[in-house]
Amino acid sequence: MSASDLARQGNQAILPGATLGVLGGGQLGRMWVQQAQAMGYFTVVLDADANSPAGLVSHHHIRTGYEDPQGLAEMARLCAAVTTEFENVPAAALDLLAQSRRVSPAGSTVAIAQDRAAEKAHFMRCGVPVAPHALIETPAQLAALPAELLPGILKTARMGYDGKGQRRVHSMTELTAAWQELGGVPCVLEKMLPLAHECSVIVARSQDGQVVHLPVQRNLHRGGILAVTEVYEGNLPPAQTQQALAAAKSIATGLQYVGVLCVEFFVLQDGSLVVNEMAPRPHNSGHYSQDACDVSQFELQLRCMTGLPLVQPRLHSPTLMLNLLGELWQAPGRQAGTPAWQQVLALPGCHLHLYGKRDAKPGRKMGHLNVTAASPEAARATALQAADILGIAPF
Ligand code: ATP
Ligand code: MG
Repeated sequence: MSASDLARQGNQAILPGATLGVLGGGQLGRMWVQQAQAMGYFTVVLDADANSPAGLVSHHHIRTGYEDPQGLAEMARLCAAVTTEFENVPAAALDLLAQSRRVSPAGSTVAIAQDRAAEKAHFMRCGVPVAPHALIETPAQLAALPAELLPGILKTARMGYDGKGQRRVHSMTELTAAWQELGGVPCVLEKMLPLAHECSVIVARSQDGQVVHLPVQRNLHRGGILAVTEVYEGNLPPAQTQQALAAAKSIATGLQYVGVLCVEFFVLQDGSLVVNEMAPRPHNSGHYSQDACDVSQFELQLRCMTGLPLVQPRLHSPTLMLNLLGELWQAPGRQAGTPAWQQVLALPGCHLHLYGKRDAKPGRKMGHLNVTAASPEAARATALQAADILGIAPF
């Protein structure tokens, strides 16, 4: 397809009946596939793993690595448009596909989200506060670090997720050891901030620059992994909500971003808001939208990538999401295997989502439970009951 053909196609919606593709076969890809199929699209997943959660449910599954020229050529042949569910997909793969197909988000924007240093520079350009930090690429940079960044968190600049590739450090000695442990790769040292809580915002931006958003999510992390998301009117003070929404929109617009973008924030004990990071895709903290909103984050991604209209989503039920991690399959006293789904599903407003993963390893995201109710109090009470049944600590 020539560049002018691509430009012309750029303004036309790709309608149901067409075939759409996703790079990456994890749970985000699986839920995207399920939504695409519900809307009458055919789907292609590219992921090397024969048992990938998304590959298992897709019409087509291309089993190659992200940089395999044949795999990418097959993707381009089959699909009218392509997106990604995996943050660390090589930007070059997206760029290659973009030569002949509509690709969103663009490789250039994904590349920024893949690099903590570039990401922070973008946030600062947008005038959104970030944690005090410094880049460490050489021993000399490490030696020259200002002491006020300690205690801090050392994070690899690239490829971190779920708290992996991070070390908490309290002294220069610990910092030096931690950097060596992380292989001496480029890292960012961030000052440890006094968090009151955490929140995130999911925005969706269309090719013509329209931006819609999901309500601000209040998040509880445990051990660097998201544990609980709470969404209802009043989950955060109105000023923080407004600030987080405005910041997320300016971050998306500043990138000329097309697609679903999640921006994560820290709320500090003095009430101020600091941006942590962004994910160029649907996000774990947006899963509640499947059952509590009239448009889910996966539908937003489909609407963005196909050029279908974007409408402002509406939260119709107060909701809490509980992440279901692998350790729940091994809780003490549990007979080998399955958590007590029957007991959980006997509670009102519980929506179970499982990703079809076989090995329940500790810390592995196996599924999530969305709890909806008529009031925040009722949603919280039911979520606490479900947590108790499943062996999730109260929150
Ligand atoms: P994910 O990809 O799952 O979002 P990640 O590995 O990219 O995680 P971060 O979001 O950087 O990691 O950090 C994980 C968690 O660690 C944060 O949600 C927060 O709870 C805590 N944390 C990270 N940085 C800081 C900081 N500077 N001060 C205090 N707590 C922090
Ligand atoms: Mg994070």
